[in-house]
Amino acid sequence: MNPFDTIEKWIKEHGSASILRDHVALLKEQMSNLERENLSLKVKLHNTETERDDYKNKADGFADEQPAETCPYCHRATLRLIEIKPNPNPHFAMMGFKQRYYKCGNPSCGQAYDKSVNPEG
Ligand SMILES: [Zn+2]
Repeated sequence: MNPFDTIEKWIKEHGSASILRDHVALLKEQMSNLERENLSLKVKLHNTETERDDYKNKADGFADEQPAETCPYCHRATLRLIEIKPNPNPHFAMMGFKQRYYKCGNPSCGQAYDKSVNPEG
């Protein structure tokens, strides 16, 4: 039962101005409590959204750090993407093909590796 139901019930049953005044006061108090609660929830929501965005940024950064490929020399998932350039073949470059330059992060390998990728890659 919300405050408005309560006040309507009281008006029907008791219809007196003093009771009505009491209930308006009660209603104002409840409204003010709800406003405080609403403000507090807005602050919590804002803080939670900020925290979520921080985690999201961290997760995006983490995904960027992940090796995209397994090293063809040592077969470990240690290839790091160094840079993406237009494909060295001008015909492929015109079609939007790129060349991805990788370097193996495995200290006992350290090979460089490049790979042609399609325009979506
Ligand atoms: Zn390697």
